[in-house]
Amino acid sequence: MTGSFYPPQRTLMGPGPSDVPARVLGALARPTLGHLDPLFVGLMDEIKGLLQYAFKTRNELTLPVSAPGSAGMEACFVNLLAPGDTVIVCANGVFGGRMKENVERCGATAIMVEDEWGQPVSIDKARAAFAEHPQASVLAFVHAETSTGVRSDAAALCALAREHNALSIVDTVTSLGGIELDVDGWGADAVYSGTQKCLSCVPGISPVTFSPRAVERIQSREHKVQSWFLDMQLVMGYWGGNSKRAYHHTAPVNALYALHESLVMLQDEGLEAAWARHARHHAALVAGLEAMGLSMAVAAEYRLPQLNAVNIPAGVDDAAVRSALLNEFDLEIGAGLGALAGKTWRIGLMGHSSRERNVLTLLAALESVLG
Ligand code: PLP
Repeated sequence: MTGSFYPPQRTLMGPGPSDVPARVLGALARPTLGHLDPLFVGLMDEIKGLLQYAFKTRNELTLPVSAPGSAGMEACFVNLLAPGDTVIVCANGVFGGRMKENVERCGATAIMVEDEWGQPVSIDKARAAFAEHPQASVLAFVHAETSTGVRSDAAALCALAREHNALSIVDTVTSLGGIELDVDGWGADAVYSGTQKCLSCVPGISPVTFSPRAVERIQSREHKVQSWFLDMQLVMGYWGGNSKRAYHHTAPVNALYALHESLVMLQDEGLEAAWARHARHHAALVAGLEAMGLSMAVAAEYRLPQLNAVNIPAGVDDAAVRSALLNEFDLEIGAGLGALAGKTWRIGLMGHSSRERNVLTLLAALESVLG
């Protein structure tokens, strides 16, 4: 007979999911309402307002897609692209590569602006790509590359897109709630995120926001969006501004209670205070790691405070260290990905995981495992 599943209490310090606070887990266990119950519809309105706060936007089309960050990514591409379009895609890690896949599956052409893993997106190279492909209708990039721990200059890239009359698609899966993100101030057009990183909510939901320019593009489409589920014109009827909500799909009701709770926590702390907390604990972690003789893989000016890439010292068995941390200390850190596999560890200090207790636990555990 198969019994119930009781996971151990891990400390999550990898690339996500991050630790989910008891307050958010508690929200999940509240009674399930019907998804068209007026009380739930009221909650949807509150979630929308809280997401507008977190994204720093007044965009009317702001909502949580009922699926993980990858679906938010896909929602942005399928709604803004049509076959034959040209898109400039900046890739400096795993997720830029996924954007290329999305572009091609929409029947559009991806012009790749490649930067080395561990480096930010080069604004000059993106500008040169526009000079060579002036017909490009979208510029897509990742604000916070989780695979490398690098922050790119989102404000400059969004401005570059506007200069060339193109829309920007911005991946903020790892940045939302952790570092400065100013959707309206930067003029970003289609922005998606995830709940399992700096929002410290359960995985499986993807907040998105679309600027009025992006909405105009969506509304003037000639081709049907290839995905029924992610077609924003249909989703708008469910999450839209009027009280007449039309059934589109059944929202993940309890997961949305959890998202609401995590956003209320962010609002109570204050966005800027949350960014400052991430920066403070990052500085403490780096000081501790350097005191142990370890070095960071990314130059200080581009480092993400919420995702710390650390060079694995020569002669150290990457996998053995990570399993010792997991098995002896119930502590998860991330392996390097792709070109950085075996070369770096990725230590997450995201959302509720960005706490003094976690920094001290990690430093003590790592010191003990490295001997
Ligand atoms: N983009 C970035 C930068 C990510 O870090 C992730 C997940 O780690 C994704 C997209 C995809 O999100 P999900 O795994 O929730 O589908």
